[in-house]
This record gives sequence, C-alpha cells and structure tokens, in this order.
Amino acid sequence: MKAAIVTIGDEILIGQIVDTNSAWMAENLSLLGLDIQEIRSIPDKREQIIKTLKEFNDRVDFVIISGGLGPTSDDITKASLNEYFEGNMHIDKEVLSNIQYLFNKRGMIVSENNRLQALIPDNCIVLRNPSGTAPGMWFEKENTIFVSLPGVPFEMKDIFMLDLLPRLRKRLNGSIIFHRTVMTHGLPESYLAAKIKEWEEALPANIKLAYLPRPGMVRLRLTAVGKVKSELEELLKVEIDKLQKIIPQYIFSLKDEALEEVVGRLLKERGKTLSTAESCTGGMIASLVTSVPGSSDYFKGSIVAYDNEIKKAELGVQESVLLSEGAVSEKVVRQMAEGIRKKFNVDYGIGVSGIAGPSGGSSEKPVGTTWIAVSSAENTVSKMFLFGEHRGRNIDKASVTALNMLRVMILDI
Ligand code: ATP
Ligand code: MG
Repeated sequence: MKAAIVTIGDEILIGQIVDTNSAWMAENLSLLGLDIQEIRSIPDKREQIIKTLKEFNDRVDFVIISGGLGPTSDDITKASLNEYFEGNMHIDKEVLSNIQYLFNKRGMIVSENNRLQALIPDNCIVLRNPSGTAPGMWFEKENTIFVSLPGVPFEMKDIFMLDLLPRLRKRLNGSIIFHRTVMTHGLPESYLAAKIKEWEEALPANIKLAYLPRPGMVRLRLTAVGKVKSELEELLKVEIDKLQKIIPQYIFSLKDEALEEVVGRLLKERGKTLSTAESCTGGMIASLVTSVPGSSDYFKGSIVAYDNEIKKAELGVQESVLLSEGAVSEKVVRQMAEGIRKKFNVDYGIGVSGIAGPSGGSSEKPVGTTWIAVSSAENTVSKMFLFGEHRGRNIDKASVTALNMLRVMILDI
C-alpha cells in the first residue's frame, strides 16, 4: 500500500514548531508495511489543502494528515476535507458528548466554538479522541483512504493507537474496496432506478450500487468488495458494459467528471469553438465552461441577454417574434443561439430563455418552463423543458441540460 503523510500548519512553515508528527507517523506506518512515498508540510490554506488531496488521491492508497482541526479560525482542515469529499456537516452526538464530558471534568462549560468541534462531515468514519475535543476522521475516495488527525502530538498518537491502527490492520489483511462511477443525465433518479432495476437486481452480491443525484444529473457509484484488485476491476467492467447497453443515451461519462469537462474535451479534440447567449441562466453556462482549465482554447465569450432590448440589439432577435411568441419561446432561443454563433464567429452557439421563478409564471408557461437551443452551421436544435419550482435548481438544471444538448450535437448521437 502506497502512502503519503501531510502535515498542515503555518507554524511548521515559518519554523515555529518542528514537525515531529511526520517522523512518528512514518515510523509507525512503515512498521505496518506501508510504503511511504512522500512527506509534505503545507500551510493552513484551503487551496493548498485541496490541491494536495487531489494530487495524492491519484498517486497513493493511503494519506494521513495531521493538524488544523482545532476550534480557531486558522484551523480550516475540516472544512476543506468536507469540501473535497462533498459531505454535509452534521453534529455528531458521540463527539458532542465527549466534548461535554471533557469540559465537565474540568468544571468548564462548553462554548459555542467548542460545540462546533462536534460538526463532522457525514461521509466519514469518526475516529475517537480520548484525550481531546477534535476527533479523527476516515474518508475514502476512488480507492484512496484519507485519515485526518489533530496536530497536537499526544492526541494524534492516542487516536492512531486506539482507533486507527486496528482499522488499518484489518484493511491490510482483509478485503479491498474498488469504486467506479457512471455519470448520467436526462433521467430523474426514480425513472433511472426503474429503467435499470433488472440490471441492479442481477448485480453480484459483492457489488453495491449508490445513486448520487445532483441538479440535472445522477451519479451511479458501483462499489465492489473482494480480495484481488484485478478481479474486481474486471467484474465492474463487465457490469458497466451491460449498463451501457441498457441506457446508452443517458450516460455521458464513465468516470467522475462534470459535463463541462466532457464538453470541453470534445470541443478541444475537434478544434471547435463555443459561445453562449443566456437569459435565465444569467451566465451560469459560461461560468461552468470557464471553470475548466484551458477553456480559452474553445470558449470565446457570452452575452447575458436578460432584457429583450439586449436580445434584439446584440443577438438580432426579431421584435415581431418577441411580441408574438414571448421571450420564453422556441423561435427566440433559436435566434439567440444562431445570433451569438454568427456574432462571435464560433462553431457552436447556445441560447437559453426560461422562467426561473419564483414569479413570472402563467398557466400557459408555468415557472420552470425553459427553452434551449444549440446551433451549428449545419443545424439548430431546440427543446422545451419543464424543470421545477426552485429558482436556483432551475438555473442549474437549464445549464447542465444545455451542455448535454451540445454534447449530443457534437457527437451526433
Ligand atoms: P488544536 O485543537 O490544538 O488547535 P489542531 O488539530 O488544530 O489542534 P494545530 O493547530 O495544527 O492542531 O496544532 C496544535 C499544536 O500541536 C501546535 O501548536 C503544535 O504545538 C502541535 N503540532 C501541530 N502539528 C505538529 C507537527 N506536525 N509536529 C509536531 N507538533 C505539532
Ligand atoms: Mg489549532
């Protein structure tokens, strides 16, 4: 098992404290037979923490982290971990009662800051801290285990010996876990579940399926448990191949990545360019597209044409069409998509107009009604969607759906 050690703390980097935790952890992990690839010290900075997690996620099987779990504002390890592992913070009752016990013992009352130490991401295993308020946390992502421990040396050592060591021993001699993620778009969770019911029920007993919905998409995570990695890989591949035959049109990636990354790659590979004309999404599609590094290769720009005057003046939408059909209509989004494609001289144009809500709906066009068009020199495709009541989710769904329509057009499927 390849491992990395990360110590977090500004004090380490300015030489105020000596990083003795790394040496102790390296020694004890080596005794277990782990192969330490790197020891790294980083400051209490969110970006650097996340960057380090990402990097080691790809390179090693086990990452142990110490520091930055305290109650003060400079301790940001927990929030960064929660962000990276996409959990939700909740008050852990056992951790809270341990905090109360430790404070009562010293005749002190628990302050709000200390109570917050019981806020724990809901997707980790809590490692009990018998000597302090901040517990350890065990996460797993894409076959890498991440363990976060407090920086105070005796607390770190206590958790390591009491709770971490037995778990790690078990894991090393016992089973391994292997994950694969399939990204789907276009089917709400319950419809998707109904479509793949038979396949799901026929899955081997050592494969578990989890539905992880996000606005406009559902991630399917398959987890296989067994002894031999290559066998698990093969087993998952066979099942995913079957799944692809059942819902080919709904799968946009076989790894955990966003639609904007998939679309970006497709545009880049083909040397094509994109621009967006956005009304109800207010630039969200442009924002998603430009969140991908290197997007300047294929994204030229966007016009947020919120007002009808802008739709007319900047995109060439006809006044007569706006009057007869309304701004949320097929003809208008087609003119927006075509208008931006020509104006910015790009291969693909996207046009979106909808009623995000909560007001502005009518019986004919209720809140959530959204028209989306994607245009190329050969063809313009337009579709209407009825999303929901919630403004933020409507904007998210419209953006993701527009990107998927572009993907379908590029691939001609
Ligand atoms: P606390 O709740 O005490 O704030 P924490 O998890 O936030 O714990 P830090 O704030 O990073 O940990 O560190 C607390 C103290 O622990 C430091 O001031 C230092 O004395 C010690 N410490 C932290 N990291 C290390 C390390 N890598 N090696 C040795 N000592 C350390
Ligand atoms: Mg601290």
